[in-house]
Amino acid sequence: MATPLDASVTDLPDRLCTWCRVPMKKRLVGGRQFVHYTCPKCVFQHTTRLGPKPAPAKH
Ligand SMILES: [Zn+2]
Repeated sequence: MATPLDASVTDLPDRLCTWCRVPMKKRLVGGRQFVHYTCPKCVFQHTTRLGPKPAPAKH
């Protein structure tokens, strides 16, 4: 509880690089609503949204 930021990052699901098949580094971005994955071996990057999706804009 002393380090909520680190705990959040640690709690994030791992993602393997599409090509290297190695665990990618995780970093919270966009006000901690997105996870930015970066591969330590290549330049592949991936960003995914955290939490519930925003309500769809229906009319
Ligand atoms: Zn890679």
